[in-house]
Amino acid sequence: MSTHYDVIIVGAGITGASTAYHLKQFGVKRVALIERGQPASGGTGKSAAIVRQHYSTPIMARLARDSVDMFAAMRQELGADGGYVNSGYCFLLTAEMLPGARKNVAMQQGLGIDTRFLDDQERDQRMPWLNTEGVAGVVYEKRGGYADPVQTTEAYVGAFQKQGGEVRLKTPVRELTRDGDRITGVILDDGRLAAGAVVNAAGPWAKYLAESARLELQMRSIREQDLVWQARQGRPVPNMSVSNGVDAIYLRPLGDGRFILGRGFPKPYTDVDPYNYKETADDDFIAEVQERAERRFPPLAGMKLLQHYSALYDVTPDWYPYIGPRTGIQGYYDGSGGSGHGFKIGPAIGKELARWIATGEVAEDFAPLTYDRLAAGRLYNQSFGGNRG
Ligand SMILES: Cc1cc2nc3c(=O)[nH]c(=O)nc-3n(C[C@H](O)[C@H](O)[C@H](O)COP(=O)(O)OP(=O)(O)OC[C@H]3O[C@@H](n4cnc5c(N)ncnc54)[C@H](O)[C@@H]3O)c2cc1C
Repeated sequence: MSTHYDVIIVGAGITGASTAYHLKQFGVKRVALIERGQPASGGTGKSAAIVRQHYSTPIMARLARDSVDMFAAMRQELGADGGYVNSGYCFLLTAEMLPGARKNVAMQQGLGIDTRFLDDQERDQRMPWLNTEGVAGVVYEKRGGYADPVQTTEAYVGAFQKQGGEVRLKTPVRELTRDGDRITGVILDDGRLAAGAVVNAAGPWAKYLAESARLELQMRSIREQDLVWQARQGRPVPNMSVSNGVDAIYLRPLGDGRFILGRGFPKPYTDVDPYNYKETADDDFIAEVQERAERRFPPLAGMKLLQHYSALYDVTPDWYPYIGPRTGIQGYYDGSGGSGHGFKIGPAIGKELARWIATGEVAEDFAPLTYDRLAAGRLYNQSFGGNRG
């Protein structure tokens, strides 16, 4: 194994895996992907992995749009499937949410995204499982759905290896090394590795890695709970991914009458220590989500809880990721801060970050995602208010 690389990526979640693969695609020769556990052993592996393009800003909507194309082409491009299921996606709206949603849908349509409001007839036909009381509108995305987060990550890691990329698993990076204003490599348990550039894609743990080289990284670690349920046999369960803005829950089908349920915005956000947090769901959370889901989707009544868990959101002050280089620091790239939507945009983020590293070129709308935006006071708006899946 080498001790000198052109690029080292720390963290094999969706962000690191996609970045690694695309660096090879852009012709970077010596690339190492270093992961302290297994691929997708962070938030990615526990992601509900809802795929949708409904966002309130063009940058997020178009990253989600580009990722949908990548999910759909994965088998062809990587030789392995990411488990993308094009089930469709819908967003249930209250009356107060309608004006904003109309604006967002128009913006998304302008980006070529296939999204629209359903009329009552089509809503009833597509969603026989929906209690429409209090639902003032339904946005429907034909190409939305969900993917398998572990399979997707493994597909990128496998394709990266096939192109000569080096993967080191069960290998924690203890520190970044720094020489003046340059990040020069990483320290492992068994020695040092030098790199022309290091990508910090360590998710909720990225903050600590950055701090090891005296780089500030403002980030919260928030515990996100998800529940896996089984509907009673023969019931017409929701067959598409749902952001339910009316009851603040989300649903992601798993097939065979099973599905994931979680809480959407607004909800309480609990900050936790990412090295020590409760990895199961709370009883009151389970009861609340069950009550909301059974009311909104009556065929779910009597559903059985199969599994519950919690994992982490790496949340930035404006809920947009930190991606790219930093002014005044050489050889370092941020690749963290998915803030609850990092799975669905991960493929496109990895591709654009890799292009930036390999060629120095960056799309105009992508460049403002850098950490520099904090110091410059250029935070994005927070109108989408965190995760809806
Ligand atoms: C319960 C839950 C539900 C979610 N639902 C959705 C959803 O429906 N749709 C969506 O788009 N997003 C969703 N998200 C968010 C999304 O999953 C994350 O934003 C995304 O997966 C983050 O990916 P990542 O690669 O940036 O980070 P991570 O997946 O956290 O990967 C970081 C990796 O770095 C490794 N690492 C950390 N420190 C070190 C170190 N020092 N040395 C070596 N390796 C290290 C970790 O082991 C980990 O594998 C959800 C998240 C959770 C927790």
